[in-house]
Amino acid sequence: MKKRNLVVANWKMNPETLEKAKEIFNEIRSASKKLKNTDVVICPPFPFINSFAKLNRPKNVFIGAQNVASQFKGAFTGEVSAEMIKNVGGDFSIIGHSERVAMGEIGETVRQKLAIAFDCGLIPVLCVGEKERDKDGNYLTVIKNQIKEYISGLQKRNLVGLIIAYEPVWAIGKSYRDAMNATDVHEMTLIIKKIVSELVGKDIAAGIKILYGGSVEAEGALPIMELGNVDGFLVGHASLNPEEFSAILKATDMKR
Ligand code: PEP
Repeated sequence: MKKRNLVVANWKMNPETLEKAKEIFNEIRSASKKLKNTDVVICPPFPFINSFAKLNRPKNVFIGAQNVASQFKGAFTGEVSAEMIKNVGGDFSIIGHSERVAMGEIGETVRQKLAIAFDCGLIPVLCVGEKERDKDGNYLTVIKNQIKEYISGLQKRNLVGLIIAYEPVWAIGKSYRDAMNATDVHEMTLIIKKIVSELVGKDIAAGIKILYGGSVEAEGALPIMELGNVDGFLVGHASLNPEEFSAILKATDMKR
């Protein structure tokens, strides 16, 4: 079956009101209707998920969370479980985002979150990425260790079609000029597939989806889509600007 492109919108802690969130959502929904090869996942803050899930949307638009608890239920003040997200209409969740790691999330927690997402039928978008690119290539070891720690011990059947968002931390939250260039993105996709292949086998590696994230804006999206060997993008700040985000969707849809 043909792999579809995927663009995930990470709204982080924005916008301030449900009204504004719905305005942005509506514009993205209209742009998404024109796409032929691309699925879109909007990840608003938790309080908006339920309202969004109730809105009419085309078949290629999904709702996701930006994070999920590492436990099923219980006395974990402030946490939101995978089952709750599913129950209010979320289908996806970003897991292991570098901003969560910066808040203290460790590898074992990311692994638990992944396992719970699979158990609850939530599709994880697993983030990996190095903080810096050193001349000696240590960043490759960083990526390898992240993937190994996150997916080790998980059931192979769950890893079929795994979505990995490669997000070099140094490229996040800037402008498209600071994003990774398409050739380097391409190289990283090959490396990630090789790592996954060594860990869980060639077949699974061949079926994973790799998204690039880190200052994706309309201007830089097309070259990365054409030359970067990616299946789509994880988009932060530009996903809150409907015009910019619609242009990213259009560029993504041109491939395949
Ligand atoms: C992100 O935080 O996942 C991200 C990709 O952000 P930005 O697009 O703003 O760099």
